[in-house]
Amino acid sequence: MTYVGKALMLGDPFVGKTSLLAQYVDDKFDIDYKQTIGANFLIKEVDLTSIITKLELQDEKLKNDIKEKGFKVYWWDVGGQQDKLFVTEYYFMQAVGAIIVFDILNKESYENLDFWISKMKELSGAIPFIIVGNKIDEKDKRVISIKEGQKKAMSYNVEYVETSAKLNDNVDKAFEDLSIQILNNLK
Ligand code: GDP
Ligand code: MG
Repeated sequence: MTYVGKALMLGDPFVGKTSLLAQYVDDKFDIDYKQTIGANFLIKEVDLTSIITKLELQDEKLKNDIKEKGFKVYWWDVGGQQDKLFVTEYYFMQAVGAIIVFDILNKESYENLDFWISKMKELSGAIPFIIVGNKIDEKDKRVISIKEGQKKAMSYNVEYVETSAKLNDNVDKAFEDLSIQILNNLK
C-alpha cells in the first residue's frame, strides 16, 4: 500500500493558500476562489524521482519501501474567510507537516504567522513546516521584505520560500521542500 500523510495549509484568509494548492495540484490559477475547491482536501502523489536524492532516511528498508510503493499527501485547505474561527482541532489532527502562508503585501498576515505556528504546535505537535511568502508578482506593493521573511523563518529554524501562485513561481519548490522534510521525518 502507498504511504499517505496529511499536510496542512495554514495562514490568514486571502494570503493565497487555495491558489497555491490549486497551482501545485491542478496546474491552474483562478482569479477568485470563493471557497475552498470542492472538498476540504486535495491529494497529490509526491514525485519521488525528483526528490529521492534528497532523502536522508536512516532506515534503508523504509526508503526502498517508499520508493517502491509511492507516497501521497492529502493537503488540507480551509475554506471561507474566517479561517481563524473555523479551524478546529479536527483539522490539525495527525498532520505530518504544514505550509504556513502569509501575503508579502499584508503586514497583518505576517504578524499572524506566530498565531498559526503556535496553534499548529499545540494541536499537531512538533511537525516539520515551512514559511511561504506569497504574491511576489506584486513587487511594487510589497510591505514585508525578503529579510523580514527570512528572519521570521530563522526564529523558528525553518525554511523560507517566496512564491507567486499567480505566475506559478516557486510553487512546486515549496511543496517539494516540505514533502522532503515530511519524508525525512518518517519513522
Ligand atoms: P486563501 O484565502 O488563503 O485560500 O487565498 P486564495 O487562494 O483564495 O487567494 C486570495 C486572493 O489572492 C485571490 O483573489 C487570489 O486570486 C489572490 N492571489 C493568490 N495568490 C496570488 C499571487 O501569487 N499573486 C497575486 N497577485 N494574487 C494572488
Ligand atoms: Mg482558501
